[in-house]
Amino acid sequence: MPHWTNWSRTVRARPEEIACPADLGEVMALVEQAAERGQRVKAVGAGHSWSPVAVTDGVLVRLGALSGLRRVDREAGTATFGAGTRLRDVSAALDAEGLALPTLGSVDHQTLAGAIGTATHGSSLTWGNLSSLVREVRLVDGTGTERVFGGDDPELDGVRVHLGALGLLTEITLDVVPAFNLREDRFTISWGDAMSRLPDLARECEYVKLWWLPHTRPVVVFRYTRTEAPATVGAAGRWIDEHLANRFFFEGLLQLGSWVRPAVRWSNRLVGQTYFSPASAVGPSARMLTLAMPPRHRETELAMPLDQGIEALHRLRRVIDKRGLRVDFIVEARFVRGDSGWMSPAYGRDSAQIGAYMRRSEGLQEYFDGFAAGAADLGARPHWGKEMTLDAAQAAALYPRYADFRELASRLDPQGLFRNPFLDALLGPLQAHAD
Ligand SMILES: Cc1cc2nc3c(=O)[nH]c(=O)nc-3n(C[C@H](O)[C@H](O)[C@H](O)COP(=O)(O)OP(=O)(O)OC[C@H]3O[C@@H](n4cnc5c(N)ncnc54)[C@H](O)[C@@H]3O)c2cc1C
Repeated sequence: MPHWTNWSRTVRARPEEIACPADLGEVMALVEQAAERGQRVKAVGAGHSWSPVAVTDGVLVRLGALSGLRRVDREAGTATFGAGTRLRDVSAALDAEGLALPTLGSVDHQTLAGAIGTATHGSSLTWGNLSSLVREVRLVDGTGTERVFGGDDPELDGVRVHLGALGLLTEITLDVVPAFNLREDRFTISWGDAMSRLPDLARECEYVKLWWLPHTRPVVVFRYTRTEAPATVGAAGRWIDEHLANRFFFEGLLQLGSWVRPAVRWSNRLVGQTYFSPASAVGPSARMLTLAMPPRHRETELAMPLDQGIEALHRLRRVIDKRGLRVDFIVEARFVRGDSGWMSPAYGRDSAQIGAYMRRSEGLQEYFDGFAAGAADLGARPHWGKEMTLDAAQAAALYPRYADFRELASRLDPQGLFRNPFLDALLGPLQAHAD
């Protein structure tokens, strides 16, 4: 029996088989066959979700063959890709056309279908998460039928953040923009200053994010502004960060901190001094908005109304201080424009998305649980791709369109082919449909 694990090794599965369909026809045949046999089916992207959203003990489907740029419509400002395309390949293909995605998350190894499926986001109040850019989705539903959601179809908003529950996505059309360069300015401010100015900082320019490394004083602000200036960064810098700095230096410090508890304070300070000194750089947007792949670590993240971000950060810091936790990875504050995706954590509200990350296992669960419990009364919605739990009742309370999503999932997947334990807990029993 094959074995599968996600990038962070937080989730493991033993699927009955692994399938790699070559085209739409093979995807449809695969679903029909699984329906006949009563097997469950699940597409896996890059396996970059920390949550068990992509787990299956049935047929694990890899849609890497359905990838690449299919067409560009310059008049409409859209580009269409195979759903299995990696984000880095999306950016490269768009760049060759003089185009770009207007927003990106921190890394670009994920697939397009996987990234929109969990509402992967960057940090911008001008742009929403990646799923908000979607103009059309083609998928194969639980009966093996191809469905298209696009144009004015109100159900497109249900499909954006699909959670793998609606079908196997085969093609995605997205809004794109002319290619642009960004200038990154990195500087530090005090915790008090950051807390008093958080929403204003977020609104000050198109892309802003904040990092705080626990047990250190400063908060690092990253601001990105459009510029006509030529790039000052090259491919070599990214290679060095990924293959040398992150793999050996940062990784080594994390190892040390996981063996010797008091070393965490010291290594955090060293990392802060090495990585977070003030700096500026210019480069293509896709390069500037993404980072070198970090060392393996764990993440949880909550989305809340923008103005609640300060309170959530204060409470998170209190969890660390009161419980004497040693946290060896950054706390990140990002900002996402409100959108209309039924299951988007930014649904209906501009959001602060606060991420708590850690490598050490000692105290990790206390940290993540304390963060979630502390933010529970702030209307916090967990990131679907990070460590989280949410049952049907909690989801119904947090997502105004939850019942519509559940109905859509049951209609598109009447046999529950695309279900897994994560979706069973989230969506509850299948609903019967007359049609
Ligand atoms: C190092 C790292 C950095 C990250 N940075 C960010 C960040 O900056 N911002 C952010 O928001 N998130 C971030 N994430 C989380 C990540 O973007 C999401 O978890 C994303 O969903 C992963 O995409 P994937 O292709 O790996 O999908 P997977 O994790 O493999 O799958 C996610 C979901 O999509 C479904 N799926 C995948 N392909 C298909 C398909 N073709 N049809 C139907 N369903 C499909 C799966 O079944 C599953 O339900 C990061 C993750 C890592 C590991």
